[in-house]
Parts: sequence; structure tokens; C-alpha cells
Amino acid sequence: MSSGLGYNDTPIVPGTRWHVHDGDRMQPPVVTPGNAGGPPSDAISLFDGKDLSQWEAAHRTGPAGWKVENGTMEVVPGTGNIRTKLKFGDLQLHVEMASPTTIKGEGQGRGNSGIFLMGLYEVQVLDNYNNPTYPDGTVGSIYGQYPPLVNAMRAPGEWNTYDIIWQAPRFDGYTVAIPAKVTVLFNNVVLHHAVELQGPTQHRVLANYSPHAPTGPIELQDHGDLVKFRNIWVRGVKGYDHP
Ligand code: MG
Repeated sequence: MSSGLGYNDTPIVPGTRWHVHDGDRMQPPVVTPGNAGGPPSDAISLFDGKDLSQWEAAHRTGPAGWKVENGTMEVVPGTGNIRTKLKFGDLQLHVEMASPTTIKGEGQGRGNSGIFLMGLYEVQVLDNYNNPTYPDGTVGSIYGQYPPLVNAMRAPGEWNTYDIIWQAPRFDGYTVAIPAKVTVLFNNVVLHHAVELQGPTQHRVLANYSPHAPTGPIELQDHGDLVKFRNIWVRGVKGYDHP
């Protein structure tokens, strides 16, 4: 084969059936990137500013109780967490979020919400603009486990972006074989890179794993604050050589 189309006289890449530079290896699927943070062509839009049709109440039966206005969804305190009707395993998730413009409360009491992967693992949403709290509860923290590397929070009312790459845990019987792993960018700044989680999110106690399903919903937290979200999309992440 020519160098442009690949080689079949080269060694086999360990763990695969492909030669180094193998031209017969599956071509990566073509994806058209979205404009200005919008979903790429192979994403599932979970909220495009119109309605909550992709969401339901998380801890009771019934529809999601949050309100949609001017292209955003906003927590309606007391209506509870909401979650996607669809369930996901390994994923790439984009979420945009803005803190309430009326500043109320301090520490964990200001602009608190959360993004729960698989309904269990919280990436913190909090207004930490000139509002310190315990580091492992700061905006973008893996709550109770890892503080964000930096605090890249924008001012109340301004839009922040989360880009999360999530690898679900794998279980072998009752024990965790491969812990969950997450990478988080916030406003395009890396907060965590492939850190291993200690288990589902807990408050004031240590996390530890117990087996759960290989997929779960994305859940957003009602912590009583008027946090807004928009432009939420997700892509399943598959292995190499996978259509
Ligand atoms: Mg929270």
C-alpha cells in the first residue's frame, strides 16, 4: 500500500488486529461540529430552549416541574430534581448554566444546583463568584471528593459552560472492577482530568461503591436556588473502531 492509504507490512498494534498505520482499519465516523456551543451532528439534544420533553421528575412520578422561559430552563424550588428520560453510560455532556442575578445566601447556600451523572455522581453547580466554600464543594468539584483545580466562575447572570467526559464504573459481582473516571472543563478550563471517583456522591461521609446498572439518567439538582440552564446535549462515547 502507498503511504497515503496505509500499510499492511507493519507490526500489529498490541491488543488489536490492526497493523500500525493499517488502511483497512475503520474510518472514524464523520461528525459535523455545532456552531457556537451548539450540539454536533451526532449529539442528542436534551434541552434546546423549547421544552422539557426529555426530562421527568427524578424522585417522584410525573413531569419535570421546572420552568422554561426565554430559551432557558430554571429551577422551581420545591419541585425537586429532574432527570433525563434516557439513560447513558460513557458520555460527553455539554451543559450551560447561569447563577441567579439576585445574590442570596452564602457558601453552599448561594446558587446551588448540581449535575448528577448516572443520577449518582455530582459535579457541583454553585455560585462561587466571590463566594468561597469548602473546596471539595466548590463549583465544578466532584462533590466531597475532588476540589476543582481552579475556580473559573463567571459573575451571576453570565453563562458558564460545563464539558464533561464520563466513563461509567464497571462492576464485577459486588465489587467495582474499574472505578468511574471523569474529565471536566468549565468555561474551557480544565478542572479535572481523568480522575477516578471513590463512589457515588455523599454528604459528610466517605463515598464507596455498590453495584448499579451500566447506564443511568443525567439528573439536575433542585437545591432551592433559581439556577438557570440552557443548551444541554450529550454524546455517547464508544470505543475505538466502533461505528
Ligand atoms: Mg449541589
